[in-house]
Amino acid sequence: MGKIHNFTAGPCLLPQAAIDASIEALKDFKGTGVPVICISHRTKEWESVMNECRALWRELLNIPEGYEVVFLGGGASLQFLYVAMNFLEHKAAYLDTGVWASKALKEAKGLGEAYAIASSKDKNYTYIPKGFEIPADLDYLHITTNNTIYGTELKEDLNSPVPLIADMSSDILCRRVDVSKYTVIYAGAQKNAGPAGVAVAIIKKEALGKVSRYLPTMLDYRVHIDKESMFNTPPVFSIFVMNETLKWLKAEGGVDVIHQRNLKKAETLYAEIDRNSLFVGTAAREDRSIMNVCFVLAPGKEALQDEFLAFAKERGMVGIKGHRSVGGFRASIYNACTQEDVEALVACMQEFESLKA
Ligand SMILES: *Cc1c(COP(=O)(O)O)cnc(C)c1O
Repeated sequence: MGKIHNFTAGPCLLPQAAIDASIEALKDFKGTGVPVICISHRTKEWESVMNECRALWRELLNIPEGYEVVFLGGGASLQFLYVAMNFLEHKAAYLDTGVWASKALKEAKGLGEAYAIASSKDKNYTYIPKGFEIPADLDYLHITTNNTIYGTELKEDLNSPVPLIADMSSDILCRRVDVSKYTVIYAGAQKNAGPAGVAVAIIKKEALGKVSRYLPTMLDYRVHIDKESMFNTPPVFSIFVMNETLKWLKAEGGVDVIHQRNLKKAETLYAEIDRNSLFVGTAAREDRSIMNVCFVLAPGKEALQDEFLAFAKERGMVGIKGHRSVGGFRASIYNACTQEDVEALVACMQEFESLKA
């Protein structure tokens, strides 16, 4: 088999160093002679992984004092509920930038008053709404920083007069963020931070404990903070792989270094989409995501859809079919994706153009 270039949206490619270390740990975890998935989470060897992983999150995102890092099961989708449970008392607003954002809003509506402060649904979420007023009396404003399905991204930390809560599932660790501007940042790990099975939440501790509802034990962020994410059995293998992914990122130079690479990859791919007569980008230019690049065939060329997918597959491209709600193509170019992967896709698009245009 030739070289594979994996552009899947998630779960997706991970750094080879993280995969290799995980394979080793499945054979022998830290010299214990026991596979990592067969050891008690109440051992000092395991606790050292938890501590290292928390410390790496703090270091890589420069998380200030007063914030806690927790690892939870249930993916980002359960965080939608956690957020509303732990913070919705009077009223919350959600920026409706796609399916994930509206799913988050749905959970809040089930518990109280919540509404979409602005929406880009009118144009199938191909842009990020701007210029909306944020009322000062909200419990929080919820945003989705990167819209995985549509390829739009909020590239700067929003200034919000009310507590800001962000789903960063598909762009966490792709750039530096000012954590102090957020009350909660959460992410399912399986795009930029590790494999499926664990979500990370970075929480401003003093903001907790202000709601009057009963909080079920497992849905109370304070429980997981107090128990250092070991109230119940944590998803050990997912956390192990996440830790190795963070170690890789640190060794590469951290988020500023990876951000520069991400910008270059995105620029390379968008430049080809804009140049190539067969393709057009779908996201508004100023909101183009540097993680998920969405494009379709140019008007009149739509019939080439399946042919291009087959053509790309033969050349080792994996996972470039667009989400079913958008169609076309999507190349996810997360942190572990290399410039070489992107250039292989560009070469494939150029070759296809030379045959079909
Ligand atoms: C993938 C994704 C989710 C859903 O994550 P799960 O872990 O599958 O629940 C939520 N939000 C965004 C932005 C995503 O990309």
